[in-house]
Amino acid sequence: MTIAERLQEIHTRINAAADRVGRNPADVRLVAVSKTRPATDVSAAFRAGQRIFGENYVQELNEKVVRVAEPVEWHFIGHLQSNKVRQIAGKVALIHSVDRLSLAGEIDRQWGKLEKVCDVLVQVNIAGEATKSGTTGEGALRLVRDIARLPNLRVRGLMTMPPFFDDPEAARPYFRELKRLAGLIAGEDVPGVEMKELSMGMSGDFEAAIQEGATLVRVGTAIFGERM
Ligand SMILES: *Cc1c(COP(=O)(O)O)cnc(C)c1O
Repeated sequence: MTIAERLQEIHTRINAAADRVGRNPADVRLVAVSKTRPATDVSAAFRAGQRIFGENYVQELNEKVVRVAEPVEWHFIGHLQSNKVRQIAGKVALIHSVDRLSLAGEIDRQWGKLEKVCDVLVQVNIAGEATKSGTTGEGALRLVRDIARLPNLRVRGLMTMPPFFDDPEAARPYFRELKRLAGLIAGEDVPGVEMKELSMGMSGDFEAAIQEGATLVRVGTAIFGERM
């Protein structure tokens, strides 16, 4: 199958998953995760109508920003080191993976130099896995409150990456918990903070995530094939 054919199939599945729970499929945006894939794959997906691309590594993102001529929207979705923030400043429309105040502070500083505001999601490690980034569920509200004081950052919602399961249904409780947490934080009415975006769901479980309220699904292998 070509990238265009796979994209079409994903959209069919996104629409069906949204329909099943009475959601508008237009409220679910597809982030094509292009890590490890060549710039030509990004261009091919763009020609097939895909606009948002997610990258995990700073150097790889920068290479593709240069190589991809099409006006794509880049999102940063991977673990981000503070000392590398400067290298992506102004180049990404959304950072999904803000999990600590020191990182938020550096994003604020670098976007501030450009006199721009960076949209971010707070990454929550719902399962508390030691190998994964993310603030704890209990720490999320605190972090959101702290970030809200930074002038050049705007919190748009939450992101999570549940433990890996073969059965997508096993991930569902984590998606549900992220949604519950977002509702809780929204209820606190922190000035300048929105809980409109829920970034959750990957190739193996995006349908369950959509049924639980995802507004951004991050799909890699189901579009581009197995990673090299
Ligand atoms: C790689 C990655 C994805 C995409 O995973 P697939 O299983 O290939 O769809 C999504 N989110 C994050 C944070 C990733 O690192």
